[in-house]
This record gives sequence, C-alpha cells and structure tokens, in this order.
Amino acid sequence: MPKVTIDYEKGEDLNDVLDLCPAGVFEKQDDKIVVAHEDQCTACHACDGTHESIKVEDD
Ligand code: SF4
Repeated sequence: MPKVTIDYEKGEDLNDVLDLCPAGVFEKQDDKIVVAHEDQCTACHACDGTHESIKVEDD
C-alpha cells in the first residue's frame, strides 16, 4: 500500500487535492486537509506531482 504524507510546515494551500485525487484519499477536517483513506491510494501521483508538501511512497 502506498504511503501518503503531508508536510504541513510548508504551509501550502492543499484544498484542490480534494478534487484532484481520483481515489478520495483526502478529506477536510476542521479546516485542514488530511490523509483520511490512505488504503484507497493508487499511487497515481497527481497529488505529489503538483504539491511539494505531499509525498507518496510506492511500496
Ligand atoms: S497518489 Fe493519486 S490516488 Fe494517491 S493520494 Fe495522491 S492523488 Fe490520490
């Protein structure tokens, strides 16, 4: 299963990943984008290809 991590220290606007991710991995909780369904990630790299604060490690 791919591992999806977010580095919040970079302060990047991540709101668009809610629509960008085809697998519904991200959710907005308390005004913060979080990795809610990592098990659904298909490692398409749409998110980490466009956001330097997101990292997807294929296994
Ligand atoms: S790699 Fe693709 S499927 Fe996985 S979290 Fe990023 S956008 Fe979603």
